[in-house]
Amino acid sequence: LKPLPDNAPVGRLHDGSFSAYSAATKFSELPLSKKTMDALKKAGYVNMTEIQRASLPHALCGRDVLGAAKTGSGKTLAFVIPVVEKLHKERWGPEDGVGSIIISPTRELAGQLFDVLKTVGKFHNFSAGLLIGGRKDVEMEKERVNELNILVCTPGRLLQHMDETPNFECSQLQILVLDEADRILDVGFKKSLNAIVSQLPKHRQTMLFSATQTKSVQDLARLSLKDPEYISVHEKA
Ligand code: ADP
Ligand code: MG
Repeated sequence: LKPLPDNAPVGRLHDGSFSAYSAATKFSELPLSKKTMDALKKAGYVNMTEIQRASLPHALCGRDVLGAAKTGSGKTLAFVIPVVEKLHKERWGPEDGVGSIIISPTRELAGQLFDVLKTVGKFHNFSAGLLIGGRKDVEMEKERVNELNILVCTPGRLLQHMDETPNFECSQLQILVLDEADRILDVGFKKSLNAIVSQLPKHRQTMLFSATQTKSVQDLARLSLKDPEYISVHEKA
């Protein structure tokens, strides 16, 4: 992973024009909580990647973001940091319930991003759960799911909880993230995703990240995005 050169241009598609990166190149230049900053430092993250540099300033302001950058470009931190920071700013506590839902198309990817969440959230006191299908005991999950602040889940398992878990409650949701959004918005997940989104409060921050930019107006309407920032970072030759 190459660090970003100072003053590099970025293809941030906003009002149809290209604009420059924000000045910050290091995580330490962002307005992050000490807990998050310490965790990033401990994990050895110093310089932001291009997608992080282009999207984090917007995401940290609470804006809806549609981020596109190729695989391996560091998209996970671009949404995990804003999730943690938002709940920190809102002084989210154990009694506040689900504050963020992060949806991933596969169990494996959900597991990987859960590890990143654990790294970034290391010094915070949020509870987080990995809700994916498979052999994990869903009955035990049901008893605990309402105590979790951050849910990392596959669409099927999340919907299962929405349908079957007594008192499943996400009316205070602050941030919704779709990782690999193009895959989640694909026809295969269409029914589940519609059912999920219909049960979520509309007043929230929403972030979509994928390798290719999602521009389907229908999809964006479906997700109730508000004046989103379109951020595309492409490898220069
Ligand atoms: P993507 O989701 O875009 O495919 P990931 O978020 O999985 O990319 O990140 C790819 C790799 O880059 C991971 O090993 C991650 O730890 C590393 N990485 C991400 N951001 C940074 C950074 N700012 N500095 C150094 N390494 C990073
Ligand atoms: Mg990824």
